[in-house]
Amino acid sequence: MADLEQWAVAHGQQAFRGRQLHDWLYARGVRSLSDVSVLPKAWREQLQAAPPPAGDWIGRLPLLQSSCAADGTAKLLLGTADGLSLETVGIPSGDRLTVCVSSQVGCPMACRFCATGKGGLQRSLALHEIVDQVLSVREFMERRPSHVVFMGMGEPLLNIEAVLAAIACLCTDLGMAQRQITVSTVGVPRTLPTLAERALATLGRAQFTLAVSLHAPDQALREELIPTAHAYPIEELLEDCRHYVALTGRRVSFEYILLGGVNDQPRHAAALARLLRGFQSHVNLIPYNPIEEEDFQRPSPAAVEAFRLALAERHIAVSVRASRGLDRDAACGQLRRGFSPLNAPGSGAG
Ligand code: SAH
Repeated sequence: MADLEQWAVAHGQQAFRGRQLHDWLYARGVRSLSDVSVLPKAWREQLQAAPPPAGDWIGRLPLLQSSCAADGTAKLLLGTADGLSLETVGIPSGDRLTVCVSSQVGCPMACRFCATGKGGLQRSLALHEIVDQVLSVREFMERRPSHVVFMGMGEPLLNIEAVLAAIACLCTDLGMAQRQITVSTVGVPRTLPTLAERALATLGRAQFTLAVSLHAPDQALREELIPTAHAYPIEELLEDCRHYVALTGRRVSFEYILLGGVNDQPRHAAALARLLRGFQSHVNLIPYNPIEEEDFQRPSPAAVEAFRLALAERHIAVSVRASRGLDRDAACGQLRRGFSPLNAPGSGAG
């Protein structure tokens, strides 16, 4: 709001013009200055006289394509100004509408089970490109999103400033609460303290949920699944998580993908419980969603339940994440397909 007021004044207008524009951008979701009829027409024309990037324009991303799954999950493909495309998913569930946002186009982390990781990184997303995903889901589903999870394409801890700026914008401009927001990371060395410190500095507090993709109870198996873990020993990752909890006062949750026969055996559950003993945390089990490039197996519902029970019996807080949007490739780790020719190599689709 303050930025828009300043911007209006810098353009020879009164500050309230900035407040009006704020209302039309965030409450009404306008996509073009031409549509902001509350502003003087002559001024709007003057602003738009020069074409982007020289003039002033609303940098909304066009919706290139959409698909809806039988369970109501909607996947949107948005286009960037430089010709890339990114995906965002709206997941309705009762009163909730969760938006799964991308923080990068593609991802450099190359986790073996993840479709996004197969294509490498195109680039990190800017603040407006992250917020746009939430506005686009709101527009498409004609509902106010209640929750945002940074679990789409990309590694948020490689784009900390834009992610935090987006959280600030979602809270101040769209009226969300930090507690409705989750940032998921596979872990990047030396970035968790930065995330905590920068969150406290820029947001005043860090109340969003940090979810860490653990996926294995020991270093050797973790490295097999997540090659980048080689540079980040699991003990160090957990130490950083404890430090994060101390800095922010917030619990951490751990994501654990279940890959049939690989990390879902009773001994893995026992080792995971030992690893997390005494750590105020929550484990979220994610049954693997098959991707084309790998032949991991999705475990049976009975195997998932057995793993959950083995943790619960050892007093680990644990839940199983419901798979949504499976029939439309909107499930975790699958944001990379189904949009040809738009997802030709290099376009960065999903
Ligand atoms: N880069 C971040 C956030 C994006 S992925 C991270 O790794 O946490 C969000 C979650 O989906 C992660 O826990 C990730 O490991 C998981 N995931 C990736 N591919 C998957 C797949 N094929 N099936 C199930 N979960 C998957």
